[in-house]
Amino acid sequence: MKVARIDLSKSIVRISELPTSWEKEYIGGKGVATKLLFEIPPKIDPFHQENALIFGIGPLNGIALSGATRMTCVFKSPMTGGYGESQCGGFIAYEMRKAGIDFLFITGKADKPVYIVVEDENVQIKDASHLWGKDSYETEDILRKDEDGEVLSIGQAGENLVRFACINHRRGRQFGRGGAGAVMGSKNLKGVVIRGSKKIEVAEPEKLKEFRRWLNQNVVNNLQGMTKYGTPGIMALTNETGVLPTKYWQEGSFDGFESINAEAMQKYVERNTACYACVVACGKISKVADVEVEGPEYETLFSFGSLCYNSDLESIIKANDLCDRFGMDVISAGNTIAFLMACNESGEVDERLQFGDGEAILELLRKIAFREGIGNILAEGVMRAAELLNVSSEPVHVKGLEPAGYDPRGLYGMALAYVTSQRGACHMRSCAYRPNLTGLLDRFSPEGQAALVKDLEDFYCVVDSLVFCRFLCLPVIGMGWKEIAELLSIITGRETSVEDLKKAGERIHNLTREFNLREGVVNERLPSTFFKPLRKYDKEFAVDEGSFKAMLEEYYKLRGWRRQA
Ligand code: SF4
Repeated sequence: MKVARIDLSKSIVRISELPTSWEKEYIGGKGVATKLLFEIPPKIDPFHQENALIFGIGPLNGIALSGATRMTCVFKSPMTGGYGESQCGGFIAYEMRKAGIDFLFITGKADKPVYIVVEDENVQIKDASHLWGKDSYETEDILRKDEDGEVLSIGQAGENLVRFACINHRRGRQFGRGGAGAVMGSKNLKGVVIRGSKKIEVAEPEKLKEFRRWLNQNVVNNLQGMTKYGTPGIMALTNETGVLPTKYWQEGSFDGFESINAEAMQKYVERNTACYACVVACGKISKVADVEVEGPEYETLFSFGSLCYNSDLESIIKANDLCDRFGMDVISAGNTIAFLMACNESGEVDERLQFGDGEAILELLRKIAFREGIGNILAEGVMRAAELLNVSSEPVHVKGLEPAGYDPRGLYGMALAYVTSQRGACHMRSCAYRPNLTGLLDRFSPEGQAALVKDLEDFYCVVDSLVFCRFLCLPVIGMGWKEIAELLSIITGRETSVEDLKKAGERIHNLTREFNLREGVVNERLPSTFFKPLRKYDKEFAVDEGSFKAMLEEYYKLRGWRRQA
């Protein structure tokens, strides 16, 4: 595996080989990037120039197979002050594999805006003064035309250090969570262009053909709902089961659900879109008037829809477009705006902002991206915004990161998973909502949740190191440990056992935890909101505090960790 170390302060690029033992120990992608993250000095501010922005691919990237499409990005997060990580689909990982570099380790701060061009093991740093101030759509269009490669870029939110700024690729694909775009902006780095021409080798091409057939019949076939509806398909289930976060975590199902669900979206969807070589094609291109956008995904519909009590789907599509243009994480943005709406409703702030006001959401997104007025406060994310606003309403977050669209009061596995996720309240580190929602485990019981969350966390550490799409590795309907081990053996020609992978997954998860311990980010507090009842029709439910503690204790025992004071 090759890493290009790029120091933007000194304009120095150094390419070197990483230890071969890391291929077994940390696989690639997330695992290796996390190992590299320890090179930054402890306890620095995430916007310090010595923070690193690490892009990485893994052994499965570049092959023409559904799901082998993702790139990882690891950094110290401006949201949590701890471990930051995100994954992005599209075509960027494929291009990076062809370029022959596995990791970009970017440190320093350029003295003027720059972009990086990676071409077949050559790395150049170029002037981006003409791009600064442009949104990510414009930036990508210019860079694609000038440099003819796949592009990562930030919009104005990243330039303005909005803490939840993201990095965009092909307009609709993002390194979304944790503030990677803000770290990129803090380095005066506007874009990264990658182009490669190397041939991608597979150790056993005939076996790969067989595997592809198996995957299409046994996994892709199970994902027809994703092809038809994309991620919004799950909203019917979350609403029905009372776990669709509504009115800033006060309710669990939304009266306006039918106006913003997957069926309602059909009116606006123009066509499907896919990452490189993926036949699932779960992306949706939607259009409202002159706005064309990839999405909205389920997380966008929940964050600007039910969470803001907003049933105006057109405003959600427009909010999606603004977030993509300016480069902002939709989950953090929607949570922060909904929090302001809740504070306004309780009379703690006076912003003339009501739940359900779609137009106000759009206006606030502009203000956040440019840090204007109240937007300057919201740009800090919900944890810091609550302090700056000096309100007593509880901001809902774990470690500083706002949760996704699954209320843990009706999903005990998620109550645990939100606090054990090392990047903050995340649904994707374990996908524990799925086995809970589909009845594999009793979603109102702590029974078995610790073992489930641990196994899934280790599994997705491996998936994110390969780097593969987790939609093809979902519990029950997707690939599991055995199939992943088989695929890795086919691609690399090295026999890989399930046991090897399980050990690597645990090692990688422990490493993310170790980074957080080093940085002093040890908070595993579930917001008190989730211990209070959530009303749903004739039934009330909440996370039971005793059960939550028991799950956490059991989880610690399974991990062999000691509780921190
Ligand atoms: S399932 Fe969707 S997100 Fe995953 S690789 Fe395919 S198109 Fe991309």
